[in-house]
Amino acid sequence: MSRRFDVIIVGGGMVGAALGCALGQGGLRVAVIESREPEPFTAEQEYGLRVSALGIASQHILENLGVWQQLQNWRISPYERMTVWDAGGTGKIEFDVAETGEQVLGHIVENALIQRALFEASAQEENIQWFCPASLQGFVADKDEVIVTLDTGEVLLSQLIVGADGANSKVRDLAGILRQSRDYHQQAIVANVGTQLPHERTARQRFLPDGILAFLPLADGRCSIVWSSETARSEYLMNLDDDAFTAELGEMFEHALGEITSVSKRATFPLAGRHAETYIKSRIALVGDAAHTVHPLAGQGVNLGFLDIAELSHLLLNSDRDLGSLHLLRKYERARAGENELMLRSMEGFKLLFNNKNPVLGWLRNTGLSITNQVSPLKQLFMHQAMGQSGDVPPLARRRIEESA
Ligand SMILES: Cc1cc2nc3c(=O)[nH]c(=O)nc-3n(C[C@H](O)[C@H](O)[C@H](O)COP(=O)(O)OP(=O)(O)OC[C@H]3O[C@@H](n4cnc5c(N)ncnc54)[C@H](O)[C@@H]3O)c2cc1C
Repeated sequence: MSRRFDVIIVGGGMVGAALGCALGQGGLRVAVIESREPEPFTAEQEYGLRVSALGIASQHILENLGVWQQLQNWRISPYERMTVWDAGGTGKIEFDVAETGEQVLGHIVENALIQRALFEASAQEENIQWFCPASLQGFVADKDEVIVTLDTGEVLLSQLIVGADGANSKVRDLAGILRQSRDYHQQAIVANVGTQLPHERTARQRFLPDGILAFLPLADGRCSIVWSSETARSEYLMNLDDDAFTAELGEMFEHALGEITSVSKRATFPLAGRHAETYIKSRIALVGDAAHTVHPLAGQGVNLGFLDIAELSHLLLNSDRDLGSLHLLRKYERARAGENELMLRSMEGFKLLFNNKNPVLGWLRNTGLSITNQVSPLKQLFMHQAMGQSGDVPPLARRRIEESA
């Protein structure tokens, strides 16, 4: 027996689950297909290694979806300052919430908690149905509908299928959508570390000759680190015992928070910049990492994914036409692909500028950081970009959803 929905979302990660909530709360009948059920939260559970630095726009989206309060009740960590400096010189830039008119620059939140909060919120909506655990087996998109088969044997029908199934998206592959891909030949090591000095709600990032080292403040006083470096170096670091690793980490961080006093288990992620050649086909749309992956140096990946779903949900909820029509989906692509491409290229520009031993570039970045730090409008621009507040954002990403949304 087949079941009919307005929209089928493949992938109930942070981005797919948020889209499910937005559409379901807006009155559409939605299926979310997810292969792994998000774990319930317990106060004793160890901090996850995967965290996201969420900007203000993402916070508004999660507030408007009704999950922000839950995340605050669990655990999130606001940051009020950001310091970025260069290993090769004197360049430094500092952002302070006092310069913004906001209360925080952003929050560090565990990915698993965001996904779980959205999963629980969708359980409250009777027109959102999760198929979980279940995986996409295949789909056929014809003139009138999409027919989706799951590995459980179930068959679902809808007007539109959305691929929110991450960087290795099966929806994208089955749709025959190609992507531009650049392997950065880098890996990011993530871990949670204790430090001798308090982090003082400051996110810190140091550019290194072969990568970036970020210390993101956690609510329990520790920091979540993201240390990207060339693959061979990263493997060397992963093979060090905890003492040798923390010694090297402290040194690379110029002991900005004193000694590293503890380290959790570590994990690595290969880094690549990827962008789908198109986000849409008739009855098919891609969102989040299925459409684009950016270097984590500015912590923008899921922030961009949330803006994708804010835009797509706005268009779908305000349409009185076929939800899978190319006419409608083109508006989504037009709104998001250019902005995401810009972010991808900016991150690559940063990476090139900072991961380079050329003395001219060294002078340029030191001077650039120092000038930016001194020139107020430039600084404001950077700050608003980092907080996800640049440009015109869709209603779901605004502080309060307007009546007209
Ligand atoms: C080291 C590192 C640090 C980062 N830090 C930040 C940061 O600070 N801020 C930020 O904004 N971004 C950050 N990012 C990026 C961010 O993690 C990703 O952009 C984000 O996880 C993408 O979410 P998603 O829901 O699109 O995809 P995913 O998180 O990959 O979720 C995809 C979901 O689809 C499911 N799925 C896959 N295939 C199928 C299938 N066939 N059937 C059913 N289900 C399926 C999976 O189980 C998964 O739950 C970082 C990334 C890395 C690697």
